Amino acid sequence: MRSGSVVASVVAVGGILACTQQNLTPSGIVVTTSILGDVVRTIVREDIPVYVLMGPGIDPHLYKPTLQDVQALQRARCVVAHGLRLEGKMEETLHTLARRTPVLFAAELLPRDSLRAVGPQQYDPHIWFDVGLWREVVLRIADSLAALFPQQRQRWRGRAHRYVQQLDSLDRWIRFQVQQIPPQQRLLVTVHDAFSYFGRAYGLETVALQGISTAAEFGLYDVTRVSQELVRRRVPAVFVESSLPARWMENVVRMARTQGMSVRIAGELYSDALGAPGSGAETYVGMMHTNVMRIVGGLSGGGAP
Ligand SMILES: [Zn+2]
Repeated sequence: MRSGSVVASVVAVGGILACTQQNLTPSGIVVTTSILGDVVRTIVREDIPVYVLMGPGIDPHLYKPTLQDVQALQRARCVVAHGLRLEGKMEETLHTLARRTPVLFAAELLPRDSLRAVGPQQYDPHIWFDVGLWREVVLRIADSLAALFPQQRQRWRGRAHRYVQQLDSLDRWIRFQVQQIPPQQRLLVTVHDAFSYFGRAYGLETVALQGISTAAEFGLYDVTRVSQELVRRRVPAVFVESSLPARWMENVVRMARTQGMSVRIAGELYSDALGAPGSGAETYVGMMHTNVMRIVGGLSGGGAP
């Protein structure tokens, strides 16, 4: 079933390419998010210019394309977007563009039954937090790009296959690390619901103030709900996110303290964007490594590294 869906995607993208061949300009591949940008750069390297629209710390749910972005998209030879409505404010632009430029919606290359359904025809887009799923996305991106740039096929597929070996090691390392957290403390509390794939893959429960989009409304009810869960489960730590304000989680901590539970903010997790250069989280592997160290440190009762 998986290989069938890859072929279908490649054929679909290849079909669009054939219609637009005469419009191609040598301006490269445009990628929406920083996390996806790392994958595409790992596969493509210097072979073709790669331009990533969203920089470190940018929230893709709320990001609106600038005039410069629109110009880059219009000149692109192909666009790699995440899809599953992650780029909520760019959807219209991307779908309009897809009529004349190949747009690869990477997360939508996965079989639907591997995704978390959160409503009718609505899926949780944060698939990168399950490294096993993300490896499948990497391979599918490489196959789809190779279909668009056939002269690069062997090189790009080779790089993708070598890269997923690193991801397989990362996946095993995360499983080992999560085992270090006392079982009753395997509850990950974050601002928005970005970590449910992480929880599903590695055996943690997740609780969030907000839904899967940072555009979702939340209020005092959610602060109370989350703080009561912390008190009930005696969870020592919660986390803030690099692309969201910390003050929301500070309210949860204050409320839990009024109920006699000493909870602390154990650190900042990278949820929907990579870290700045030099942060150690400027690559996908580095981001996952940093997050896991902080989660394990925080929930095991130790200090956040
Ligand atoms: Zn998100």
